[in-house]
Amino acid sequence: MDPRDELICLGHDEPLEERDGAIMPPIVQTSLFAKPRFEDLIRSLEAEHEHRVYTRGCNPTVEALEQKLATLEGGEAAKCFGSGMGAVNAVLSGLLQAGDHILFVNHVYGPTLQLAQHLTRFGINHDHTLARDISEIATSLRSNTRLIYFESPGTMMFRQLDISGLSELARSRNILTVIDNTWATPLYQKPLAMGVDLSLHSTTKYIGGHSDVVGGVVVGKKDLLKQIFYNAFLLNGAAPAPMDAYLLIRGLRTLPVRMRQHQEDALLLARFLKNHPGVREVYHPAVMEEEEVFCHAQLTGFSGLFSIVLADDRFSNICRFIDGLQLFRTGVSWGGVESLVISPNRGDNLETLDRAGIPRGLVRLSVGLEGVDALRSDLEKALEQV
Ligand SMILES: *Cc1c(COP(=O)(O)O)cnc(C)c1O
Repeated sequence: MDPRDELICLGHDEPLEERDGAIMPPIVQTSLFAKPRFEDLIRSLEAEHEHRVYTRGCNPTVEALEQKLATLEGGEAAKCFGSGMGAVNAVLSGLLQAGDHILFVNHVYGPTLQLAQHLTRFGINHDHTLARDISEIATSLRSNTRLIYFESPGTMMFRQLDISGLSELARSRNILTVIDNTWATPLYQKPLAMGVDLSLHSTTKYIGGHSDVVGGVVVGKKDLLKQIFYNAFLLNGAAPAPMDAYLLIRGLRTLPVRMRQHQEDALLLARFLKNHPGVREVYHPAVMEEEEVFCHAQLTGFSGLFSIVLADDRFSNICRFIDGLQLFRTGVSWGGVESLVISPNRGDNLETLDRAGIPRGLVRLSVGLEGVDALRSDLEKALEQV
């Protein structure tokens, strides 16, 4: 973890002198900003991406958060959204038009793919490849591919991609690259430094960190962010609330210390589970041999979300395991202080799982902060029942 990032999270980049030394930024809970003269308002409206006119556009509390996230991610500018999907939607609908093609690479968050399916109604088409070899990925590109969208590590399976290699391929073909960097957080992976054009996050997860906010962010070059602002953000209406921006700044205060603990505890549990006879496979970047080279090149740390595959992968057994856990709560989302468990196996979707290359016995664990000993014995007990 870069010590400079830790200081930014803790607020050492913030202009305290501009706010009477207030250690936390003010929550500017207003919908609009009145101007002294009508002509001032007109001028502000002409450049709404950098002037405060209306909170669906810019708001000082949100700007304070954007500034911090831009710096952490190493980008020129950031735009925050009312949800991670708001950010994904703005990137796709703000940068693409009918006739364009998107290539999705690696396992990608389900609703993102559903959104892509929805966009086909507007003439934006896509393909999806699980290939990792750059020259093999290149064979899926089309003459109208405008954007490559990927996750690394990917959803559910946590396989990584050669981020620099993929960015280079895209650049040589004049194609934009977008990564969903939610898993690693800006503390453990810097995709923009590896040549990616835009890095986005669901801030709902580790950045918020307390399961009390839904939010998203996109970081990258100013010109791309400006295009996203006018073509999508200002019109789509997924603006973040000032109070939520404040909560996310508060979340950032403890992000470094939380990530260290999530990392340590998840690693211990992943290694424990790898040796357990009830577990066939552990998908955690640090315990998968084929991930080692990527881990060294791309990640400076690991978060607390990983998957296991139960040796007995029948749906009834998955239910027994999940329901046998006491400390791991059963629910969607992740990145909070509470441990969570879920499986993509719904009992009636086996063919979909097979097609997506996801093992039927896969169970995803989000390791919270309850303490590794208690979590290990919880897992041990639940595994005894399966
Ligand atoms: C949760 C999530 C999203 C969507 O974010 P929301 O804040 O729920 O809209 C996108 N990508 C990943 C990897 C996520 O986990």
